[in-house]
Amino acid sequence: MKIYIMTDLEGVGGVVNKSQVFAGSVAYEKACERLTLEVNAAVEGALAAGADEIVVVDGHGANSAVNLIYDKLHPGAVYIQGVPWTTYPQDLDETYDAVFQIGAHAMAGTPGAVLEHTMSSEHWVEMRINGKPMGEIGLIAACAGVYDVPFVMVSGCDKACAEARALVPEVECAVVKYGITRHCARVLPHAVVLDLIRQKAGEAVKKARSVAPFKVEGPVAVEIDYLRNDMADMVKERLGVEKIGPRTVRFTGRDIIEAYARVRGA
Ligand SMILES: [Zn+2]
Repeated sequence: MKIYIMTDLEGVGGVVNKSQVFAGSVAYEKACERLTLEVNAAVEGALAAGADEIVVVDGHGANSAVNLIYDKLHPGAVYIQGVPWTTYPQDLDETYDAVFQIGAHAMAGTPGAVLEHTMSSEHWVEMRINGKPMGEIGLIAACAGVYDVPFVMVSGCDKACAEARALVPEVECAVVKYGITRHCARVLPHAVVLDLIRQKAGEAVKKARSVAPFKVEGPVAVEIDYLRNDMADMVKERLGVEKIGPRTVRFTGRDIIEAYARVRGA
């Protein structure tokens, strides 16, 4: 069984504020260490449950992300780092049997969700896929659905996990913290988090074949409300890209992969 693991940093245990998710601080380095341990726990759990090939994508950061600590990576997986903004989701295709997301966060505007945002906390207010507000969890689940790959596990705050469950009721959720405000949470000790992720990853692999992929019917329209009109103005109208309001651009494609590639300017 081949597993794809997308990673992010905002949903990692003990991460609650901005200094922890922007490169250049001791707090950030520490958060990366915890992310690496959480990924390793997921890899361990998945391998123990029968996974035999695991690809992990280092996904946090706008461009060329490198957050996972190379020297501490579990030897049972392969890792993709330095992914360019234009490719998303990197390397995902029909050869996979299941998708996990480790360190996930809820979509922009979710009440009480830790570090909630959609793609860019500075530029994006809301993303809608075929009219329905979605965040990065919905996006990765929908992209996997194009290849008929089920989304089976998520870790993050309670609001992120609830967002995943609303899309895929059977998804295994490792709740690593309980959001109180955007920058405040009731956090679980990291030893507890790692055990939980290991266990849920195993459960997710065991049930993967019985979970239905999350499908978004094509053609797909992705609408993005940017924070300001100049951000929408920067997006050039071309095939499949149309400005529909002062701050809103619609990107269309035969499926979510093609529509979202237009968001990225690919
Ligand atoms: Zn992130």
